[in-house]
Amino acid sequence: MDEEYQHSNHDLDENESFFSEAESPGTFHNPFIESVRPLIELIDSLRLIGIDEDIGLPSIAVVGDQSSGKSSVLEALSGIALPRGSGIVTRCPLQLKLHKIKKGPWSGTISYRDNKETFQDPLKVDHLVREAQNKLAGNTVEICEDLITLEISSPDVCDLTLIDLPGITRVPVHGQPEDIGKQIKALIEKFISKRETIILVVVPCNIDIATTEALRMAQDVDPEGHRTLAILTKPDLIDRGAEADVLNIVQGKVIPLSKGYIVVRCRGQSDINNKIPLAKAMQTEIKFFRNHRYFSFLLNDGRASTQCLADKLTKELKSLPYLTEQIQTRLLIVQRELKNYEQGPPMEEEMMGPFLSKITMKFSDSINELSRTGHSKHINIYTLLRPVFKTWDMHLRETQETFAEKVKEMLEMYNEMHRCRELLTFTDYCEFERVIKEHVSDLQDPATKLMKRVREIVQNEFKVVCDSSFEQYPQLKYIVSNMINDIQSKQETKVEKRIKEFIHMEQLVFTQDKVLQQKLNDSDIPKKAGLDTSDVSHYENGGDDYNIFNSKGCALLDTRNLTPDKLALYYEIVYQRLTDYVPMLVTLFMLKDPAKILRHQTMELRIEADLVKLLSEDSERGCKRADLKQRLDRLMQAQDLISSRL
Ligand code: GDP
Ligand code: MG
Repeated sequence: MDEEYQHSNHDLDENESFFSEAESPGTFHNPFIESVRPLIELIDSLRLIGIDEDIGLPSIAVVGDQSSGKSSVLEALSGIALPRGSGIVTRCPLQLKLHKIKKGPWSGTISYRDNKETFQDPLKVDHLVREAQNKLAGNTVEICEDLITLEISSPDVCDLTLIDLPGITRVPVHGQPEDIGKQIKALIEKFISKRETIILVVVPCNIDIATTEALRMAQDVDPEGHRTLAILTKPDLIDRGAEADVLNIVQGKVIPLSKGYIVVRCRGQSDINNKIPLAKAMQTEIKFFRNHRYFSFLLNDGRASTQCLADKLTKELKSLPYLTEQIQTRLLIVQRELKNYEQGPPMEEEMMGPFLSKITMKFSDSINELSRTGHSKHINIYTLLRPVFKTWDMHLRETQETFAEKVKEMLEMYNEMHRCRELLTFTDYCEFERVIKEHVSDLQDPATKLMKRVREIVQNEFKVVCDSSFEQYPQLKYIVSNMINDIQSKQETKVEKRIKEFIHMEQLVFTQDKVLQQKLNDSDIPKKAGLDTSDVSHYENGGDDYNIFNSKGCALLDTRNLTPDKLALYYEIVYQRLTDYVPMLVTLFMLKDPAKILRHQTMELRIEADLVKLLSEDSERGCKRADLKQRLDRLMQAQDLISSRL
């Protein structure tokens, strides 16, 4: 190798001075870092707003065969001297996180597994990385997929993440497991498949590129080649006569790549041994290309030198299509998710009152709609109420039958059981009235039952509306739910009283003569009583109605055997009154009025309530939404930053 090295150095005209300076990593002026600085500052500000929690920020990873020059390329880009040499040197993935600081001394922190060490001497990097690898992968030739993170803070670096990876090997050397090749490939894939990673495929010039596994791997994860850059290293080691072949490769004639190739010359082993500083090595590199018989035009073409690589990388990083894309996709996701969590309460206390009004208004609108049309979100409440009302009607009809039987029975026993001082064939009206009263008072219980059932249905529907309106606010939900319960309880007492009043009123045993007369007319009683129908038609024709039955009818009708029929007719009137009035009463008191009261009371909530407490959210939900909101803000900020800077 030394011989090759000497040979290639023949192209240099002055090579004495750059061997002399002592290496001083960390302080050297790095062209890549300079050119990429604006972008890095952008990424830096993105990190500051915490965007790295949402999206992956760009990093640069190197892939290539063992000893192809990966660590050397990273070293040239970062200015940090990494462990290098022949054989398997990089045995764990190394994440090199560079942080630019405004002022202060160089500081490095190496961390892996449970280890963490901060150090101030840049020259210790090599030793500490090797030590870390030994601890993770053993003091052998094995590899380990545990990440070593090396964070460097210095005014001379800038925020960038570089990843050094173990080189690809095909044949395991002594001490390596059989599947070492597979292991390494899996490890590399894990890193390069990330869309925010720029892949630097490192291939030495003196190797047949067609057989390069690294290139194939990059093409697998990035088939279009949007983020793949090929780097040809060790141009100083090309066999004499092979230069034309290398030129063909660089010009994309062998394997075309959309981002093309760049040739770089890094420090060789003897440069390292001689402690050639990086800055010097770069000058040497430029001279090397400038004076190269075949490659000098590549320098002008922008396809040779570390500087050129730096420029190209900067451009790649700057285009950042993935970054904007990522932010946009994230934005959409976060916005969609946030919608699911609906708008939360305002943070400012003075905004809480109007907000509370808004949501309670929405609630009472729903309740109002429910009361007005019966429509609730999932059902019309009348589909539940109607069967209850029907049951009441059916019950009343049944009581008509039992009433008729009761009267008949009473009549049969009249002379023995119920007769007072009246003469035979005369009947005591009070006794008949008593039967009616008794029978009607039995209606109190079923009517109350009906009311309770209606309360249950209405209250349930109100609660459904309450739950969905105040889902996020357990306090508010609790209060309104109690409110509903209180209102319904009060209404229930009122209805119970009204029902009692109804039943009491029915104890009066009353109807307008005209009403009963109409019933009699429509019935077959006049016929049974032997009444002339022409007289009835006289009434129907609008004659002097009050006289009809008074003349002969009354006497005829006032016979005991017709009593059950007559009473049944009266009870029909009772039935007609109650079958409608009870449901109407209940609907009015248990549905319509509570809706109004509820509206009023929820509106008043704002006046005295502890708004902050009332609007305090379900904690998990609140946290999640707060988090989403934060992310949304961050992403929007990032989007603004990118569009203003690029
Ligand atoms: P890695 O295994 O891919 O990380 O390769 P390294 O960066 O450790 O390099 C392997 C060896 O090649 C080291 O001794 C480097 O000094 C040497 N090397 C890297 N780049 C060049 C180059 O451009 N020219 C010469 N002559 N040697 C180089
Ligand atoms: Mg290496």
